[in-house]
Amino acid sequence: MKIVEPYAKIIESELEQLSVYQRIDKCASVCYQRPEKPNDEEARVFCLGIVDRKHWMPLEMAVVHLATTELDVPKSKYITSSRITGETRGKVVISGSIRAFLEAEYPNTEQSLRFLAHEFPLFFGEDIRDTYVKFARPDQIPWYHKHVAVRIVTNRAISHQLVRHRPCAILQESQRFCRYDGERFDGEVSFVRPGWVSPAFSRGYNPLLKLWRDDMMGAERRYFNRLDKGLQPQQARGVLPNECKTELIMYASLPEWLHILNTDTMRCSKHADPEMRRIMIPLREEFMAKYPEADWSKGEGA
Ligand SMILES: Cc1cc2nc3c(=O)[nH]c(=O)nc-3n(C[C@H](O)[C@H](O)[C@H](O)COP(=O)(O)OP(=O)(O)OC[C@H]3O[C@@H](n4cnc5c(N)ncnc54)[C@H](O)[C@@H]3O)c2cc1C
Repeated sequence: MKIVEPYAKIIESELEQLSVYQRIDKCASVCYQRPEKPNDEEARVFCLGIVDRKHWMPLEMAVVHLATTELDVPKSKYITSSRITGETRGKVVISGSIRAFLEAEYPNTEQSLRFLAHEFPLFFGEDIRDTYVKFARPDQIPWYHKHVAVRIVTNRAISHQLVRHRPCAILQESQRFCRYDGERFDGEVSFVRPGWVSPAFSRGYNPLLKLWRDDMMGAERRYFNRLDKGLQPQQARGVLPNECKTELIMYASLPEWLHILNTDTMRCSKHADPEMRRIMIPLREEFMAKYPEADWSKGEGA
């Protein structure tokens, strides 16, 4: 068995360097715990598979910001629009994921759809670019349109709590597709050390660590035994405990992160699970340092 420490870390600046295809591929790679595709071409092939299978969830992992006209605001609860500060002629920023734009209704004009079709024909089907629509410049994007991706390593009990936040886009390591006796996992199951178990044997004895390790090793043994008997990972995983390690990419707007990281009511509050607070309190500090434009004093969104 492997013992891992939990963490939550902002990975937005790393993802921003990638093409939309590579970004989607990298986020989806967490499900299979596979390496990301080596280049844009390979990532496009992966995205094509997503489109063919109509498995559109990973397309939520890329939010684009367009500068367009007030008339061109698609109808969708997943697309946010705001007037561009200083513009007088009805210009707006609209922000939404590739999926949101794909599934939106376009009641007035389809300018943004045509623009996206020109930029991303793989998702939208090729079209002639409408030159009036552009990607919004960074200075035109209000803070409450920004979306931030976070990589989280935690246990399965905490991940279950995290996926309850419905406005987030989340991709998670799959215990159906990952086979922990394989080479990719060095033939070991990983478990997250709970905060109540100190990491080392002090003076040779740590009864809680021993208790916990024995429990986890027993679960690993039962899991491998099921695989040895020919069961599939999705059947063998039934004996894995809540303290099994998992990994997620969680992507949400800044106002949603303000809500999730609220210190009075949500995941940083004294009512939250200590294992949740263990990763969310440092994450809140990282957010406050990286996104000071959001109002962190209230804990909630503006
Ligand atoms: C300390 C703590 C203890 C908890 N204990 C429990 C527990 O014992 N049992 C339990 O089941 N959960 C528990 N939860 C989870 C909690 O009930 C919520 O599911 C979780 O906090 C996510 O809530 P949310 O409002 O942030 O997100 P969501 O519930 O996803 O809501 C986000 C937004 O989505 C919208 N929305 C989405 N779907 C709908 C809909 N169908 N109808 C109306 N509006 C919708 C709303 O506008 C809402 O503002 C607990 C959470 C915390 C922090």
